[in-house]
Amino acid sequence: MYDFNYHRPKKLDEAATTLSSAEDGKLVAGGMTLIPTLKQRLAQPSDLVDLAELSELAGISVDGDTIIIGSMTRHCDVSASADVAESIPALASLASHIGDSQVRHRGTIGGSIANNDPAADYPAGALGLGATIVTSKRKSTADEFFTGLFETVLEEDEIITSIEFPKPKRAAYMKFPNPASRYAMVGVMVAETADGVRVAVTGAGDDGVFRVTAMEEALDANFASDAIADITVSDAELMSDIHASAEYRAHLISIMAKRAVEAAS
Ligand SMILES: Cc1cc2nc3c(=O)[nH]c(=O)nc-3n(C[C@H](O)[C@H](O)[C@H](O)COP(=O)(O)OP(=O)(O)OC[C@H]3O[C@@H](n4cnc5c(N)ncnc54)[C@H](O)[C@@H]3O)c2cc1C
Repeated sequence: MYDFNYHRPKKLDEAATTLSSAEDGKLVAGGMTLIPTLKQRLAQPSDLVDLAELSELAGISVDGDTIIIGSMTRHCDVSASADVAESIPALASLASHIGDSQVRHRGTIGGSIANNDPAADYPAGALGLGATIVTSKRKSTADEFFTGLFETVLEEDEIITSIEFPKPKRAAYMKFPNPASRYAMVGVMVAETADGVRVAVTGAGDDGVFRVTAMEEALDANFASDAIADITVSDAELMSDIHASAEYRAHLISIMAKRAVEAAS
């Protein structure tokens, strides 16, 4: 690990000012991804701004048909929330299958969304459920927010404050986990929302999380697993690595999507 200045602000505006005035500042939330990166000397920030004391960023609230989850809310708290379980059980289930108990007790939804790991679960949850990402500067729809592998619209000095999830009519998330890390080899969120069906896939895309419009159109016409039985995703733009080939991931997308439709039904 290289040397850095450590800051532990108590308020959001203090965190934002510290971050923007640092030479090369970096936020730390749960540290599940960032700390190993620093330990391996893969990053050398001048300043670390720890969000741990910003209680205003943690917690879950309900506003009509919207669940609002603070960015510092840990995965274990999302999975255990009665409000999330009642309004969006698919999201509670997604959170409960992230990593292991230690990861779920440290990792935060904001850190996961900001990191946009191509195998992480929340990007598919946010994109599939049509969430809105709220930051210290603006609001972005999930469709706008995720821009590529580990890439988002976030600027260097922008802090995610919460994620707003509209309650779907029905939804389910199915993942085929890597047996070692539990990251998604493929994870599919299927949601019937007020604006139609959304199908979002993580773990497979060469360019990160993506939607499958052919499946969405078929499910809009008939919300049944049979409706997508013949729809396949081309393996041309899917990842191939030591865990699975692109062809295998394409097959998994069809299977996980059908299982998600059945679970949501
Ligand atoms: C062994 C292991 C297994 C895992 N398995 C899974 C899994 O199955 N599924 C899954 O989805 N994830 C998995 N994860 C990832 C984990 O869930 C964390 O969510 C993820 O590492 C990032 O969250 P964090 O709070 O730890 O963020 P950090 O590591 O603290 O930060 C990650 C990045 O996000 C930035 N950041 C953090 N908070 C904010 C914010 N509020 N605004 C803007 N930027 C911010 C940081 O600057 C950093 O660049 C696993 C991790 C480990 C170590």
